[in-house]
Amino acid sequence: MMQVSIISHTPEPEKIIAAAAKMCYSPAKAHDLLCDLDPEKIENYIKMLISLGHESTVEHVSFTFVVEGVSRSLLAQLTRHRIASFSVKSQRYVKEGSFEYVVPPEIKKIPEAREVYIKTMQEDQAAYDVLSDLLEKEHFERMLSEGMPENKARSAAQKAAIEDARYVLPNACETQLMLTMNIRSLYNFFKLRCCSRAQWEIRELAEKMLRLCYEVSPVLFTKAGPSCTYGECSEGKMCCGKQNVMREKYRDIKNER
Ligand SMILES: Cc1cc2nc3c(=O)[nH]c(=O)nc-3n(C[C@H](O)[C@H](O)[C@H](O)COP(=O)(O)OP(=O)(O)OC[C@H]3O[C@@H](n4cnc5c(N)ncnc54)[C@H](O)[C@@H]3O)c2cc1C
Repeated sequence: MMQVSIISHTPEPEKIIAAAAKMCYSPAKAHDLLCDLDPEKIENYIKMLISLGHESTVEHVSFTFVVEGVSRSLLAQLTRHRIASFSVKSQRYVKEGSFEYVVPPEIKKIPEAREVYIKTMQEDQAAYDVLSDLLEKEHFERMLSEGMPENKARSAAQKAAIEDARYVLPNACETQLMLTMNIRSLYNFFKLRCCSRAQWEIRELAEKMLRLCYEVSPVLFTKAGPSCTYGECSEGKMCCGKQNVMREKYRDIKNER
């Protein structure tokens, strides 16, 4: 099951951003500006910034998430976002001894489809196990014959074996990762991936991340989400035409706090 949490973020995010903005327009020293900011001024500054679209100021604040129980298929989409940092569980170093997998909801709904899917996962696991064993044996014997000490050969052979055996693992295979994005990149991510046109799994992730960010700072994330929830749809001809539904959904998400 997908699990998402914020494990850290820049301290006092609103104050940092308001100070960055104020510094652009004030002759005062940066440290004096920080001391001179009360909560009301901070909120007003941020509202002004957001209305002006002065977005470089929000780059000073980053959020770090831990994401578990998502597919490698999601990972391929997520890592297309270049303005972000990722650390992902490695299939080169960690043996997928009994891999967990994501079942798409539409496949879950149809018993025959679910059966085919689960059987395929079991076959993939079996192929992975057989290949790992065959490759490990081959590498181990070669490494021993090359004079490598037995304990070193055992671990080196296992690593070399799973490096190739993983090619049979499916996109459905679960992974876990750590992800850091600054707020400007998060705005872009939420705009693209909370949209009804985004694929269901990355949309579910984006919605969970937005809920968590909104809990930390409603004022910074008040306009975050698909473009149609705060203005015109940016999808042009591909617009889903469900602007009202989306607006209601995001009103609910942001009122759930
Ligand atoms: C509904 C949907 C369908 C998609 N379908 C496909 C598909 O079929 N095939 C496919 O390959 N991808 C697809 N994508 C991925 C998409 O093309 C982007 O790669 C992905 O959404 C990352 O967005 P981004 O580049 O804005 O994000 P980031 O990489 O985080 O970049 C953020 C912003 O920085 C700027 N930027 C970053 N790098 C550069 C650069 N090199 N030059 C200039 N500006 C830059 C841009 O303004 C960019 O918006 C799809 C995405 C969505 C949401």
